[in-house]
Amino acid sequence: MAITQSPYVLYADAQGQVFEDETLYAAGRTGWYVDPIPEADWIELPEGGTLYNLPGRAPLGVDVETGEVRPSSKGFAVAAFVPPAHTGLYLAAYEQLPGAEVLPLFCYTAVGWRNGKFYVPAVRIEQDIRQEASGYDEAMIRKGVDELRAAYPHNRLVEHLACNCALTYTCPAARNFFLGRWECPVPVSPACNANCVGCISLLPEEEPITASHDRLDFKPTAQEIVEYTVPHLESAPFPIISFGQGCEGEPLLMWETIREAILEIRKFTSKGSININTNGSKPDAVEALCKAGLNSIRVSTNSAQEAWYTPYYRPNNYAFEDIVESLKIVNRYGGWTSINYFVFPGMTDHPAEYEALRRLIRETGLKMIQWRNFNIDPDWYLGRLNIADTGDPIGVKRLMALIKEEFPHIQYGYFNPPMERIRGNFERDFAGGRLGV
Ligand code: SF4
Repeated sequence: MAITQSPYVLYADAQGQVFEDETLYAAGRTGWYVDPIPEADWIELPEGGTLYNLPGRAPLGVDVETGEVRPSSKGFAVAAFVPPAHTGLYLAAYEQLPGAEVLPLFCYTAVGWRNGKFYVPAVRIEQDIRQEASGYDEAMIRKGVDELRAAYPHNRLVEHLACNCALTYTCPAARNFFLGRWECPVPVSPACNANCVGCISLLPEEEPITASHDRLDFKPTAQEIVEYTVPHLESAPFPIISFGQGCEGEPLLMWETIREAILEIRKFTSKGSININTNGSKPDAVEALCKAGLNSIRVSTNSAQEAWYTPYYRPNNYAFEDIVESLKIVNRYGGWTSINYFVFPGMTDHPAEYEALRRLIRETGLKMIQWRNFNIDPDWYLGRLNIADTGDPIGVKRLMALIKEEFPHIQYGYFNPPMERIRGNFERDFAGGRLGV
């Protein structure tokens, strides 16, 4: 439900308890700037959302009497995690205090309190319910884990997905696999050809933060992949199998194994969709996979501009133009192309980024933007990219509207679409509540 008055700023005490400061309205950060948040942008914190305390940071808000932006002296800043399917429009606003440590790799969306509820500036960008918190039954997941481990006792990938992904990291995609539904993860690569500042699976020891996942430490065989993905494609509702996960390096470095697996899978089943989540660095490999039967690609990027991409990804033996080429190739083969666009309010909606995104869409024939929240400490990110001024942003919501107006065919979302959606049936089936589980 919309609100008619801005929510109040939140602060956390030394014990981590959260309170509201009724002398300040919650403000939002875009790039290096802090502004009031329009009332229309606030929604109730969706189910599955949580709060973070931000030690070493004082909350900034808009004084309820003077309208000035000022810090609260009552405690530490608080931010929200907005759950999958939602895109945050403003970051939490705070003042970093001396000695504050770099924040771990999560997204820090603004949050406030009004009428007994938490509110966040966000939009629901995806209607698919595949990672809804209420859809996970722990007992059913454990049952699925036991059954699939017993069915594939020698399969190292199933073991990895069970022990590391589903049970330790509570990865929503892995948990869905053990529940026998939707998108099934297929991590394949222990190595990478990029060195992302905020890599979630491997960071050098000298960095001030650690990666949030342990990276896959073996190379699976095509047989291990085929063994558990064919039954999933055959029996799961709206099935997808996706190479390239948060717990691995770059899947295109394993393209020969992926190619072999795709060819083998398609001998057994024509059902479902085969997708790759990738940095898009190897167009030739992408072409080989398209020939083998790849249905869709999702290329991750922090920016549509080479100037912002390169200092973040720090690629070893490829360049930004390779990721553009990979998208073009999949499009040429009739596949589905998405970008996993890391949304950072103030950067993603920067006028120069908007122009670059328009060019990218035009040049590649891009079909979908997955507007995902960028998991990174905002000050650290801007510092590492050496961005001293972020200028006057367009606004994330307005950016979304402008792109849609110019490119009405572009789909917005948060997840890789199943074949049924690619073929245009998903909206009808979803609207009819027929998700098959
Ligand atoms: S491309 Fe992915 S795995 Fe490679 S460094 Fe970047 S985030 Fe890490």
